[in-house]
Amino acid sequence: MKKDIHPDFKVVKVHCACGNTFEAGSTNDEIKVEMCSECHPFYTGKSKAIEKGGRVERFNKKFNL
Ligand SMILES: [Zn+2]
Repeated sequence: MKKDIHPDFKVVKVHCACGNTFEAGSTNDEIKVEMCSECHPFYTGKSKAIEKGGRVERFNKKFNL
């Protein structure tokens, strides 16, 4: 019998750090990502991911802004 070309490729759930889940094709059982189309600043137009890290705050304190 011939082996399937993509034997392990299947639709799995992708879990994002923001809590969003969506489906994608993968050979893994589960995928975890830091960003998705729901929370990435490029798609949302917001910069909450950067603000959450406190980098802007520290930067502002350093320069007394
Ligand atoms: Zn997300």
